Amino acid sequence: MNRPAAMPTITQARQVERLVRGIATSDGAGVKLTRVLTQDLQRRLDPFLMLDAFRNENPEDYIGGFPDHPHRGFETVTYMIAGRMRHHDSAGNHGLLGPGGVQWMTAGSGLIHSELPEQQEGLMEGFQLWLNLKSGRKMTAPSYRDIPAACIPECEVEDGVRVRVIAGEFRDVPGAVQRPDTEPLYLDVHMPAGSRFQQALAPGYNAFAYTYRGSIAIAGTAVPDRHMAILGNAGEGVAIEAAQDSRFLLIAGLPLAEPIVQHGPFVMNTPEQIQQAVRDYQAGKFSGVTVQSL
Ligand code: MN
Repeated sequence: MNRPAAMPTITQARQVERLVRGIATSDGAGVKLTRVLTQDLQRRLDPFLMLDAFRNENPEDYIGGFPDHPHRGFETVTYMIAGRMRHHDSAGNHGLLGPGGVQWMTAGSGLIHSELPEQQEGLMEGFQLWLNLKSGRKMTAPSYRDIPAACIPECEVEDGVRVRVIAGEFRDVPGAVQRPDTEPLYLDVHMPAGSRFQQALAPGYNAFAYTYRGSIAIAGTAVPDRHMAILGNAGEGVAIEAAQDSRFLLIAGLPLAEPIVQHGPFVMNTPEQIQQAVRDYQAGKFSGVTVQSL
């Protein structure tokens, strides 16, 4: 267990600007999910492009997984809460993502990959966040990291609050991942009933929280289970109370303030770059990968 610095003093807390429930949809080969951060929020929550939440008990709702598909121009961050997912990509990489683990993939100039459940039954729960890349890094070489649960720093702080530091820094404890340009903060916070928690956030960072157990209050505004709270940018940080055992993601990052043009799995800066991505994909320049059936 890490020993973080003391709780920051926050005299002006950020307010909840808006609560978002997300849209029930399906993607891949019939995986049921909730798209929490939708395309209309990309500008407001720059540098984040998408957040999907999935929590399925019924294998029919996840067993198809996400067969071969391409990406270009951004990063995908998959965080598993329950269940296991196997990943194969066109660079020959493969890996298994288990409970509490993270896969951080930089699609960069483009790859084709599959994300398939490695289980026939039981709960499958997790999140996929899309993080944009600065224009000068969109065509960087693709890469990815599988980060097992044991390699994600965990802290226990005041009131028995536990914090898993996926990216960025929590009170001087560096997270598992650091990224340039967008400096993402990605915390998974577990709060016992009756606890309080504070986190400093620079005003320039766009930030949101997503509750996935229980219910929290941010600066006095209730954020029920499976809701995203978009935080206003005024204030020194966020002040949270939990009346019941609760868990939430707290995500923040520096906006890129560049044009965002998305066409499905391609996110670039101009329509011409999107057309080029489609041409490159159709020409087989994202090399294919053979995925073994499970
Ligand atoms: Mn994908």
